[in-house]
Amino acid sequence: MSSCTSKQVLEKINVDVKRHSKMMKAAYGAYENLFMSQKNRPKAMEYFDWFMKEFQGERIVEIDKVKQQGKPAIGTFCIFVPEEIVVGAGGACFGLCGGSQMPIADAETELPRNICPLIKSAHGFKLQRTCAFTQSSDFIYGETTCEAKKKTWEILNKHHKTHVMYIPHMKREQDLKTWKNEVKEFKKHIEEVIGRDLSYEEMVEGIEIINRKRDALLRLDKLRGFNKEVMPISGKDALFVVQASFIDEPVRFTEKVNLLCDELEERLSNNVSVYEKDTPRLMVLGTPFALPNWKLHAAVEDSGGVIINEESCIGHRYYKDNVNLENIKDEESLMDELVDRYSKVDCACFTPNEGRVEKIIQMYKDRKADGVIYYTLSFCHTYNVESFLVKEKLAEAGIPCLTIESDYSAEDVGQIKTRVEAFLESISFQQKAKKFQEGL
Ligand code: SF4
Ligand code: SF4
Repeated sequence: MSSCTSKQVLEKINVDVKRHSKMMKAAYGAYENLFMSQKNRPKAMEYFDWFMKEFQGERIVEIDKVKQQGKPAIGTFCIFVPEEIVVGAGGACFGLCGGSQMPIADAETELPRNICPLIKSAHGFKLQRTCAFTQSSDFIYGETTCEAKKKTWEILNKHHKTHVMYIPHMKREQDLKTWKNEVKEFKKHIEEVIGRDLSYEEMVEGIEIINRKRDALLRLDKLRGFNKEVMPISGKDALFVVQASFIDEPVRFTEKVNLLCDELEERLSNNVSVYEKDTPRLMVLGTPFALPNWKLHAAVEDSGGVIINEESCIGHRYYKDNVNLENIKDEESLMDELVDRYSKVDCACFTPNEGRVEKIIQMYKDRKADGVIYYTLSFCHTYNVESFLVKEKLAEAGIPCLTIESDYSAEDVGQIKTRVEAFLESISFQQKAKKFQEGL
């Protein structure tokens, strides 16, 4: 596919091509610096390097072809929107959460300064017309998970057709009934785009495709984080793979992740590690890392640690559960199983959200991690407030925890690095003291 064709598609979908090209150059430059300069990377990361170059180019051409066949292209902002239905219709479902500082000043012409940068970044992309995924969307599907998001949709709808899915904030029986109706309504919106009813078989196929994608991501998660001495892939590379899962074509993506996993298995059996065996291994908890938010991972891995898991929506929360196909017999049971699967998402927008803490402690034990970072995007009140209860339980379990609240600007990079370095030093000190005591 020639770049000329990509340019034609970008023009057709009304992208500001000049500004877009400048932005992509900057993003790719940052990727080259942070990712491609790493030593001893798995060879299978070559596909993902290509994808970084082409996700706003060839991938957009691919989505354009999908649309030309009368299939849907749907932009979303949350892992509650059931992508299985879009994929079942042969369409493309992609995440629009913004992880870049570049569009924020534009967003602040319409949105308050003091709301989460993920929303401002995404809204700014729309105002600037610099995200080809936003521009490709037949419609955008927002949800009511947090205050800032649900009010932003009213403004976003002035610029791009936006539907809103009502997500209850509790998981009682009546809430799940409402939720099921919302999933049915989402299906109707997809049927409006394709101009016909979606068959039961198509939806089952959509579920199978997405289940396989989540299986591959879970496989990667285990390979990267379960071995205490061999880390076959950096946290940065693994994060980028998960970020790509929200925008790549799911069948090809699954195949590429499984190829990467095959290589990681080989590396594990040959003791090929990208970091030394005593490198402190950290889990990150909290808010999502939308592309290209690599700030925390870069700070940790430049400071002598490694991130082995993200307990986040761009991470484990996204792929930990599958839809149970065994219980599906007809369309009604299919809807029930979709709701069952999605209601296991333990986002801080729910009250209570007790299961999340137990899960975190279990994840920590399974990985024999050395510490956690509770990461919150600035002004994300749900995750920020919930951190109190999480940290209380972590302290009881003797798990070292560092709290970091940040946005996408480069202003606090130095400060974050200093705090991470001090945290890693205290972990190393405790580990040495423990070894010394054990040796006595
Ligand atoms: S953190 Fe909550 S609101 Fe944000 S994407 Fe995840 S589930 Fe959705
Ligand atoms: S990170 Fe927090 S504030 Fe931002 S969109 Fe997600 S739930 Fe809302």
